[in-house]
Amino acid sequence: MAIELLPPQLANQIAAGEVVERPASVVKELVENSLDAGATRVDIDIDKGGSKLIRIRDNGAGIAKGELALALSRHATSKVHTLDDLEAILSFGFRGEALASISSVSRLTLTSKTAEQSEAWQAYAEGSQMDVKVTPAAHPQGSSIEVVDLFFNTPARRRFLKSDKTEFTHIDEWLKRIAMVRSDIHFTLTHNGKLVRQYRPANTDIQTQQRLAQICGRAFAEQALSITCEHDDLLLTGYLQSPQDSVITDTNFFYVNGRLIRDRLVNHAVKQAFAEYGIEHQPGYVLMLSLDPHQVDVNVHPAKHEVRFHQSRYVHDFILQAVQSALVEMPVLPLSEALQ
Ligand code: ADP
Ligand code: MG
Repeated sequence: MAIELLPPQLANQIAAGEVVERPASVVKELVENSLDAGATRVDIDIDKGGSKLIRIRDNGAGIAKGELALALSRHATSKVHTLDDLEAILSFGFRGEALASISSVSRLTLTSKTAEQSEAWQAYAEGSQMDVKVTPAAHPQGSSIEVVDLFFNTPARRRFLKSDKTEFTHIDEWLKRIAMVRSDIHFTLTHNGKLVRQYRPANTDIQTQQRLAQICGRAFAEQALSITCEHDDLLLTGYLQSPQDSVITDTNFFYVNGRLIRDRLVNHAVKQAFAEYGIEHQPGYVLMLSLDPHQVDVNVHPAKHEVRFHQSRYVHDFILQAVQSALVEMPVLPLSEALQ
């Protein structure tokens, strides 16, 4: 068989296979774009679990008229220009693939206005066609992205979608995790026209505590130990489930430089510290690790759920010691000492 270049549309649909697994992945990519654009408010509207409609509206920097079509094409990004940029990345995005991928498997409308422009413009792209039409529109500064009929042209993917309720739960769960680490942002989430969540911006300690209670439950928030630990360029902050709280929780939220990450390293370190108190189950935690972006590779997975630490042992031991000292400062004796 002859070797041929894939048509761009098909290349985008193949890339979409990696990034756009379900409606929640679309919400993730679009909200991350809003946050990268400096938005302080993000409104999310979902119809039918996202299979009918996903609409994200933000008050960020917007996209200039002349760049609307480019934003929808593959490998188009304003966030990375050189390899050095990539190695020190702090924005969520850098692959320049999300909008191209999503628009290749849906009917996507992008409406935007920058501060410099006096009017807004709209670009429409539909899975089957690559030519983008740009027309005038009404919109305040910021962007709205509407994704209609997700996977309408990829029936195999569409069949994998679960019930509307399940798909919506995935969106809700993801938003909880991002709302926890971005307590400065005002988020709303509606489903089928009904307001389901409202996260108001938290600017004071009390408001941050309220957001913790809203997301992780009152019991967790009331008993949780707070943790702050710094060593060289590593900083760990967040909350730990109290060792006296025996409730099994699935609050295991870990962030690296503001990015939600799945990592067994942190589970292991937390569990190890709690084991000294006779606790066998996985304790709940919300932990935010900041470190020099050069020390971590985020370009490991297309959906960016994982990172690679250059010195993972060092990071593990730092987390272990940070958790150990938070437990020591706690006003109770470790179980092992109490039994002596
Ligand atoms: P990436 O985020 O990796 O750069 P995307 O395909 O998600 O790639 O977005 C492409 C580009 O479109 C971004 O680099 C950004 O310049 C622009 N963009 C996307 N969404 C928004 C938004 N909500 N506000 C402002 N600019 C945006
Ligand atoms: Mg992006």
